[in-house]
Amino acid sequence: MSRICNSVCKFCRRENQKLFLKGDRCYTDKCSFERRPYPPGQHGQSRLKFSEFALQLREKQKTKRYYGIFEKQFRRYFAEADRSKGVTGTSLLQSLESRMDNIVYLSGFASSRREAKHLVRHNHFDLNGKTCNLPGQILKAGDVVQVKEVSRQMNKVMAAQESAKKREIPKWMEADSSSFSVTIKEKPSRDEITLPVEENMIVEYYSR
Ligand code: SF4
Repeated sequence: MSRICNSVCKFCRRENQKLFLKGDRCYTDKCSFERRPYPPGQHGQSRLKFSEFALQLREKQKTKRYYGIFEKQFRRYFAEADRSKGVTGTSLLQSLESRMDNIVYLSGFASSRREAKHLVRHNHFDLNGKTCNLPGQILKAGDVVQVKEVSRQMNKVMAAQESAKKREIPKWMEADSSSFSVTIKEKPSRDEITLPVEENMIVEYYSR
């Protein structure tokens, strides 16, 4: 199983915006992007002009990095979205947003998508009453994600719940803090997906 090992802060600097990949650290003055808001590398500070293609590429890369997934998997999501009846870009974002690790993050059980992926892989969650260790599992309306009883007192989970008080849980999910669970009420609409992504550029990139 492949993993993203290099410093993820470089991704924010490359995409020229904060991607919030490191949880609470992203909100402190230790954030690398706050200290060095320019692309990494020897020529990072030179002014660059981007072609249309380069802008599309960057939008695709940024979206992959938000959700922490690799090209092959991302292409698969795109192919499925392209085959679906809906608008391709919206279907793509809906699939990404409905991933198990993203739901865990949005529910406040992890402080970043990256941490959520790690916790899911290590069997800390049930999906509809059964262990699910697949971060990329796409959830649908009616699915229930719950933190396992033995994992509820973990420092990471407790710290994430504390920091999640600053965020709002999306309306398409319903959280129950007493049972450490969240239920998917419906598919997220485009308006409810708040990541700053221009999906039409991704569609154009793959449609060349
Ligand atoms: Fe990005 Fe967070 Fe690193 Fe800042 S601390 S550069 S927001 S991952």
